[in-house]
Amino acid sequence: MNGNDITNVVIVGGGTAGWMAAAALSKYLADGRRRFTLVESDAIGTVGVGEATIPPIRSFNQMLGLDENKFLRETKGTFKLGIEFVNWGKQGDRYFHPFGEYGQDLHGISFHQLWLREVALGGQAGGIHEYSMSSMAAMMGRFGRPAPGAQSLVSQIFYAFHFDAGLYARFLRGVAEGQGTVRREGKVAHVHRDSESGDVTAIELEGGERIAGDLFIDCSGFRGLLIEQALETGYEDWSHWLPMDRAIALPTSLPASPPPFTRATAHGAGWQWRIPLQHRMGNGHVFSSQYMDSEEATRILLDNVEGEPQAEPRELRFVTGMRSKAWNHNVVSLGLSSGFIEPLESTSIHLIQNGIQRLFALFPDKAISPAERDEYNRGMRELYEDVRDFIILHYKATQRDDTAFWRYVRDMDAPESLTRKMELWRLHGRVFRENAELFAMPSWIAVMLGQNIWPQRHDPMADTLDPDKVAGAMAQMRADYRRTAEALPTQEQFLRQAGAWV
Ligand code: FAD
Repeated sequence: MNGNDITNVVIVGGGTAGWMAAAALSKYLADGRRRFTLVESDAIGTVGVGEATIPPIRSFNQMLGLDENKFLRETKGTFKLGIEFVNWGKQGDRYFHPFGEYGQDLHGISFHQLWLREVALGGQAGGIHEYSMSSMAAMMGRFGRPAPGAQSLVSQIFYAFHFDAGLYARFLRGVAEGQGTVRREGKVAHVHRDSESGDVTAIELEGGERIAGDLFIDCSGFRGLLIEQALETGYEDWSHWLPMDRAIALPTSLPASPPPFTRATAHGAGWQWRIPLQHRMGNGHVFSSQYMDSEEATRILLDNVEGEPQAEPRELRFVTGMRSKAWNHNVVSLGLSSGFIEPLESTSIHLIQNGIQRLFALFPDKAISPAERDEYNRGMRELYEDVRDFIILHYKATQRDDTAFWRYVRDMDAPESLTRKMELWRLHGRVFRENAELFAMPSWIAVMLGQNIWPQRHDPMADTLDPDKVAGAMAQMRADYRRTAEALPTQEQFLRQAGAWV
C-alpha cells in the first residue's frame, strides 16, 4: 500500500446493491488496512422485489465462493430457464425466450438460418423452441444441472435463478460481515464535500456521527442520496421509449410445484410478472400511469394471479432511465441509484453485478484519474443502452392495437441503434452482436420470431446445404432435445434431491 491507496470505502445503503457490493469488495480488496463500512437505515427499508435474474449471476455467486445449493436454500430460490411471454405480438400469442443456444450450426451456418429455410420450404421444422434444451426442459417443468465438459445435451442447459431479493441481501450481509465489513445502522442526514474538489469527504448520521471515506458507493436506491442529492449528477429520462412508471407487487401462495421459468403477460398498458419461488409466487403489474390508473392496474393483477394473496398490494414508482454519470467525483452509484429499466428481462441485479466487476477492473487511487472514471461511465452507458434497446424491442415489435398504449409503443420512433438491428433482421434474419452486448443472438431471435417479425428471406448461404440432409439433422436434434428433457426430474424433485429445498 502507498499513501495514494484508497483505505476507506463507505457503502451507503443495504439493499441488494449495497450487500452485493460489500460482499464482493470486502472479499477481493481487503488487505488488512482497507476498511469497508456499510450504512443502512432499517426505518427506510429496501425495495426488495427483485426476484428474477439472468445467467451471469452464477459467476457472481461463484466469485463470492457461494455454494449453489446453500444459496438456493437461504434465498428460497428456484431455477430459471428463461421467460415465457404471453400476449406480446398479438393477444393470444405465447413464446419462450430461453437461456442458451438454439440447435447446432451446420457447416458454419447459423442454426436459425437453417430453421428459417426449412420453414420457407414448407418442411416439418416445428417451433424454434423445440431446438433449445432450456426451453424444452422449462416447458416440461423439468431441470438438470449441466456438468462441465459433459457430452450429454443437459450440458446445453443455461440457467439463472428466481430468489427472494431480501433474503439474498441478508445472506450476503453474513458473507460481507464475515469478511470484515462493518455495518452501521442509521439514517444519513448530511453529506459533506470538500470545498475545493467537490469530492464527498464524509456522511453524517442523524445524531451527528460522521463517517469519513475515500471512496463512496451510493446504493441508496431511487433517492440517489450521494450521486444525485449531494452531487446533482443528473438523470437521463427514457420514458418516451419505455413509458412504464409504476408497479403493483403482490406475493401469493404457490398453487402448484414451481415451474422453472418466469412468465411475463402483457395487459392493456403494461405487463404482469409471475416469478415462482419455493415458498411463494412473486407477482407484479408494471404499467404506465399515462394510460392506466393504479386502481385498474391493481384490479387486473388481482384478477390474474394464481394462489392466495399473502400481503396487501404494494405500489412502487420509478422513472426509466440512467444517471448521466454512474461514477461522479469519488462516488460510484450502483443499483437503483444509478438508473432503472423495467424488470421485463430481469436485468437490474445484473447491472449491479456488472458495475461491481467494472469497478474491480478500474479500481482507482485516492486521486481518482478522470480516464478511469470516464472508462467506467462509458462502459456502463453502453450496457444500459444495450439493455434499453432490447427491452424496447418487445414493445416496438408488437402488432397489438387494442389500446392507446400499444398503438403508441408500436408507432414510436425507436433509438437508431435498435432500428438498425431490426432492419438487418427483417432483410435476411441476421443479428450481429456489437461490442460486449449483454443479449446475444438467440435472445434477439427468440423475441423477433416470438413477436412475428419474420425476415423477408433467410440468409442465401443456407441454400448451399443439401435440404434433405439438413431436414434429417434437424429431426434428429429435435428428437434428442425432447428425449433428454423428458428424462430429467421435475425442478422440485431436483431441488429436493440436491438438498437445495427449504
Ligand atoms: P434499495 O433496495 O432501495 O435499497 C436502498 C438502501 O438504501 C436501503 O438499505 C435503505 O435503507 C438505504 N438508504 C436509503 N436512504 C438512506 C439514508 N438516508 N440513510 C441510510 N440508509 C439509506 N431486479 C432484478 O434483477 N430482477 C427483477 O425481477 C426485478 N424486479 C423489480 C421489480 C420492480 C417493480 C422494481 C422497482 C425493481 C425490480 N428489480 C429487479 C430491481 C431490484 O429490486 C433492485 O435493483 C435491487 O433490489 C437493488 O436495489 P437497491 O439496493 O439499489 O435499492
